[in-house]
Amino acid sequence: MQFSFDRSRQPHQLKRLLIVLGTYGRASAAGQLRRFRVTISRIGEVELQATEGALVLGLTFAAVSMIRLGNWGGLVAGILIVASLMIHEIGHLAMAQCLGVRVKAIGLCLKGAYVRRSSSPEPLSELLIAASGPAANALLFFWLRDGNAVARWVAMLNLVLAASSLLPVGPSDGQRIASSWRTLRRGRINTNRISTPPL
Ligand SMILES: [Zn+2]
Repeated sequence: MQFSFDRSRQPHQLKRLLIVLGTYGRASAAGQLRRFRVTISRIGEVELQATEGALVLGLTFAAVSMIRLGNWGGLVAGILIVASLMIHEIGHLAMAQCLGVRVKAIGLCLKGAYVRRSSSPEPLSELLIAASGPAANALLFFWLRDGNAVARWVAMLNLVLAASSLLPVGPSDGQRIASSWRTLRRGRINTNRISTPPL
């Protein structure tokens, strides 16, 4: 694939890039690609991983951002959005390590960033770990929202990322927060029942 940064040919180049990414996405969904995952680095005991899909994900964010920001702005935004996804996971990682929960790896694949960790038996710890990822994106939103066009675009996407990960559907942070909150409330109600003196 040839892809040079010629502004006059931008719509044509973007179309080609989006076609290539769409072809990859369909082949990936159909299970026609050999998958590989590499360990890029280690942070203490935690592996930093990436799959081939990470590159495709970054290029997709860059291509979508180029429509709004032009070639170079879009490329920078694509990199910053991928960094934002990783900062979300680093939020989970930092909180998990503070609370003594083991984290095996964080990484990036076609579906986005992920963290592989143990579950805590404490619902409050689970709630705090789940909430710390969206909180990291919310902080990035407030930090970037008054910057230049690229920063404002990345800030807006961080807000979308924080909000979407808080939706209590599927295996999301919102779902973990909701179920940890329910467990906490049940525990509190049971404790109150046990401690109520007989009349
Ligand atoms: Zn998360």
